[in-house]
Amino acid sequence: MSNYDRPVTFFLKEGQGFILPTKEYSIPDIDISLQPIRSFKDLFQLKALTRKIRSPIVKNIFSARVINMRSIESLKNARRSLEDVYYRDYETSIIHIDDMHSINVDLSYEIRELKKDTYYLEHGEDYFIDYISKLYNKFDQHVVKGLGFLDNLHFNCFITDRDGTTNNYCGHYRSSIQPVYNAVFLSRFASLCTENPIFITSAPLKNFGIIDVSVNPDNVFIYAGSKGREFLDLDLHEHKAFIDPLKQTRLEELTQKVRELEKKPEFEKFFYVGSGLQLKFGQLTIARQDVANSIPEDESIALLRNVTDIVGEFDPDGSVFRILDTGKDIEIILTVDGENGTKDFDKGDGLKFIDSRIDLHLDRGPHLVCGDTESDIPMLKAVLEYTNDVYAIFVTRDTALAKKVVTLCANTLIVPSPDILLTILGIAALKIKRKKGRKAPGIFL
Ligand SMILES: [Mg+2]
Repeated sequence: MSNYDRPVTFFLKEGQGFILPTKEYSIPDIDISLQPIRSFKDLFQLKALTRKIRSPIVKNIFSARVINMRSIESLKNARRSLEDVYYRDYETSIIHIDDMHSINVDLSYEIRELKKDTYYLEHGEDYFIDYISKLYNKFDQHVVKGLGFLDNLHFNCFITDRDGTTNNYCGHYRSSIQPVYNAVFLSRFASLCTENPIFITSAPLKNFGIIDVSVNPDNVFIYAGSKGREFLDLDLHEHKAFIDPLKQTRLEELTQKVRELEKKPEFEKFFYVGSGLQLKFGQLTIARQDVANSIPEDESIALLRNVTDIVGEFDPDGSVFRILDTGKDIEIILTVDGENGTKDFDKGDGLKFIDSRIDLHLDRGPHLVCGDTESDIPMLKAVLEYTNDVYAIFVTRDTALAKKVVTLCANTLIVPSPDILLTILGIAALKIKRKKGRKAPGIFL
């Protein structure tokens, strides 16, 4: 019997999948059937399943392997399940926290991104770009301008924020799983056009952090959480910055106290909306509003007052914590020693910490820095301390912020949405001639 005549089961063992060393490429046969989404638990479980499917899809694409149609069907079913809860009674899309409590949810991110993914996988990249170009004003002009701006450059560091910059904002961090098209565009750019691609986010690194919502292939990005206080390098080694043990203890005590707020009916919802409660390295974040502004302002302010009082109890002289209120999140950050006494740890400090552990050669440009808010400016400032060979792309419609960035960095491009930035990066990578250098295992580029 020749090899060609062997039954198909030769490589496929019952219950074990394929016996070839291709396990990490196999897209699990998770049949996401139409299912009711009644609670945040249901929602987060469903979204976690889409990550289990999306992640190997991306890996297969980067390894020049063709994916199966069943996985697309599963992603479609996930979307239909969400649409069912969302559109059935649009005015009152209710999700239950428990038997007694429920809140309105905005699932538009989840539905929209799943729709884009299946469109991308079914129709291919050109039709996909045509599809998303219709969602934004002057999409083509922005993309053409962006390609001219990047000018086929090969960057040493590509330092970027995630939420609002490369990822559309989502109402709930836990369900903000990175879409397939997003990972393909970003990882392609990172692999072909940059030496040191780094995500710096204020979300935690793990448990539940940027690692848990990303589907880029391994060894492509350096992931830094908690504004860079903790990161995973390209060899998947974890690094953590030093934190004064006394301050750490205070943070743990404070966390304990803030957690107790969940037991109070008026504060319970804040543990589910937006960022929810995030325990970061050197920082605690609790949401007081989500992107859809679903929390009434007076209730949101009541939480802010309560949390501020708790911080005051633990730190009456304000030497241990800084409170940063973004309007959506209350961030309580451990202070670090700065030039003029203590200051809060920012993404610039995070970048310098990463550089201290794995030499980024920050004095050697060009670098590309991407962000979308004020809190991303410190990483731009930090890079500019080493070289002027820096390019910045900010995703914002805020003219004051745009002006600030332009004043800091002459080579600045402002774009109005993450999808436009992604498209610029994804297409730029198709035009570039590959340089020698880093290549993650299994990446066919
Ligand atoms: Mg952001």
